[in-house]
Amino acid sequence: MIRLIGWDLDDTLVDDMGATQQGLSELAEYLGIRDLERLSEQWSIASDYWFEQYLAGHVSLEENRIRRIIETASACGIAMGNSRALQAFTVYRTGYERGWQPFWDTISFLQKIRSLGIPVGIVTNGDGPTQRRKLAVAGIDRWVSIVLISGEFGAAKPDPSIFRQLLNLAGCQPHESVFVGDRVDKDILPARALGMHAFHINRGSQQSGDIKNLLELGDALKALDPHLSSLGVMI
Ligand SMILES: [Mg+2]
Repeated sequence: MIRLIGWDLDDTLVDDMGATQQGLSELAEYLGIRDLERLSEQWSIASDYWFEQYLAGHVSLEENRIRRIIETASACGIAMGNSRALQAFTVYRTGYERGWQPFWDTISFLQKIRSLGIPVGIVTNGDGPTQRRKLAVAGIDRWVSIVLISGEFGAAKPDPSIFRQLLNLAGCQPHESVFVGDRVDKDILPARALGMHAFHINRGSQQSGDIKNLLELGDALKALDPHLSSLGVMI
């Protein structure tokens, strides 16, 4: 019997890639960059690297932001110092936050899970204030029972300790739990290594995950536990 459903947040429940594109288009306008594709590519490279450095505790949150902007701008032919980079980050951030939206199926699915008496647990990598605000702006917070954020907890996915903490807080065994996420390395493999059921969701157009939306998740959960038979049809 399933007694907990755990979730990644970004690009699983909230359209973080869409929000990033919103932020980047405002950043492009601010910096006078016309090649949005190149900007996006460079932002992705710099963000992957510096966000990992932040998660590992090697640089501060602010340093990670400054480096991402400076390296991205530099690759687009614009040199700047720290204070202009922080201003540019604020521009990016304003657009990014405006883009915080749940996916079309997120709220109705979480509502349904809660009505079945199953707690919703979030395990997300990032800083506490940002992720908590994102949960609130996207209207997800009211459906969530447990929130674990790496910046508050002190360890980031794929570290098993943050998944173990989720199970402890929910008071359930791994085989009684499900985890849903968009990253195989950070969500799926560590959850499966602990014995949780895990489903890889791919919201993008190139489908490589187990499921591409929560309707499909509902069908998969029905097969796992007959108590969840209403999940596939209520959306
Ligand atoms: Mg994610």
